[in-house]
Amino acid sequence: MLLASFGRMALTEKQTQELHKAIEQRRATLLAELREDAERVRNGRFRDLAGSAPDPGDESVATLIGDLAHADMGRDLDELRGLEAARTRLADGSYGVCIACGGDIGVERLRANPSAVRCIDCQTMYEKTHLSPSSTPGSSL
Ligand SMILES: [Zn+2]
Repeated sequence: MLLASFGRMALTEKQTQELHKAIEQRRATLLAELREDAERVRNGRFRDLAGSAPDPGDESVATLIGDLAHADMGRDLDELRGLEAARTRLADGSYGVCIACGGDIGVERLRANPSAVRCIDCQTMYEKTHLSPSSTPGSSL
C-alpha cells in the first residue's frame, strides 16, 4: 500500500527494459517501412516538384505521420501511434497498467503486444462493445 502513491508500475525493471527494447525495435521497423511508403507517396504526389524533395533524414515522426495520413496505411500508422503512446507511458511510469480498470496488463500480453493499453479482460470487453454495438448491454436508444 505504501507504493500506491508512487504510481503503479506493474512490471519489474528488467521486464520494463525488455519491453522498452521490443518497442524501440518494432518502432524502428515500422518507421523504416513507413518511410519507404512515404517515399513512394511523395514520388507520386510531388513528381512535378523534383529537386525540392525534403531530406528524408530531416523529418520528424510527426511529419511522417502527417504525410502518411493521406495514404492508405492506417493500420501501420495506428500501430506506430500505439508505440509512440507506449513510449510516453514508459516515460511517465504508467506503462503496463490497464487504462480501463487500472489493473496490471500482464507481461506476457505486453510481450505479444507491446502497445497494449488494456488488460485482456478489458480488451475483450472493449472489442465486444465496439465491434458489435447491437449487443451492448444496457444501451438506451
Ligand atoms: Zn483492465
